[in-house]
Amino acid sequence: MTTIRTAAVIGSGVMGSAIAAHLANVGIRCLLLDMVPDSLSPEEEKAGVTLQHPNVRNRLAANAIAKLKTTNPAPLYSEAFAQRITPGNLDDHFGRLAEVDWIIEAVVENAAVKQALLQRIETVWKPGTVVSSNTSGISINAMAAGCGPELRKHVLGTHFFNPPRYMKLLEIIPGRDTDPAIVASMVRFGEKTLGKGVVVAKDTPNFIANRIGTYGLLVTLQEMAAKGYTVEEVDAVTGPAMGRPKSATFRTLDLVGLDTFVHVAQNVYDNVTGEAERAAFEVPELLRGMVARGWIGEKKGQGFYKKI
Ligand code: NAD
Repeated sequence: MTTIRTAAVIGSGVMGSAIAAHLANVGIRCLLLDMVPDSLSPEEEKAGVTLQHPNVRNRLAANAIAKLKTTNPAPLYSEAFAQRITPGNLDDHFGRLAEVDWIIEAVVENAAVKQALLQRIETVWKPGTVVSSNTSGISINAMAAGCGPELRKHVLGTHFFNPPRYMKLLEIIPGRDTDPAIVASMVRFGEKTLGKGVVVAKDTPNFIANRIGTYGLLVTLQEMAAKGYTVEEVDAVTGPAMGRPKSATFRTLDLVGLDTFVHVAQNVYDNVTGEAERAAFEVPELLRGMVARGWIGEKKGQGFYKKI
């Protein structure tokens, strides 16, 4: 039985930071690591700061902690629990991945990035440490394919839903080579320690919930375009009227992040062959256009709705 007392979350975006908060809520100390930002803020540029400055290197993860304390509804049960999370830059703390019981990656939904990250993790990984991905639907087998057999036994999907503090579902996705004892142990851990309702899913494109959920969102968008409905009309019908006051179609897309949703939908599109299914999972140009403009949802303050 795997005992998890410490963890490292890689990727401090919408999901990584909220997963770290959920772990902190149940008493697990964790590292929250991200990459060096690819640009400086105007203030930093003016002050002559470089990307190598420690504050800049830690900025993404440090900002994530600040957001955890101010987001409403709060991801943390108590603000004090934020002290259980140590933010930092992934490169600076990479060796510390050898010290934790569970490494969970929550980086951008891109198969090549996730594959490369797993291979890099293998260079410091110590046997016994569970390595999981929060991917919304990329194949766990494909992600772990470049890793050795010992690590592959410890790799699986642990798919949290947004927001992790409130969403009960946790999909656990074993890969072809995942040790069944580790799967059983993570199911128990998910239920007993994390307080989740666990569903074990097969390693199929977008697993279970996102195969259905993505389909539902895309069909709604297609119907909206065909029938000329407005964003407000669609949200009124698919939100409160269906007993979902906060999770209507466009509010959900803004919460998830349009960039992430496009990756998630594209993943099914790329991995199904039936004509009808491909047509259903085709990403609308409207979404691609919004992503190109940077209107990717709440994390940037502008999506279908503007955060004031
Ligand atoms: P996000 O864009 O909010 O955050 C991704 C973070 O990863 C960013 O901070 C980025 O700087 C960092 N990153 C990218 N490449 C990295 C690398 N090589 N090393 C370290 N950090 C890196 O994305 P998100 O919404 O948090 O999604 C993360 C994962 O969780 C994705 O796989 C996504 O499909 C999945 N997911 C998202 C949701 C959702 O509602 N947004 C729900 C469930 C699962």
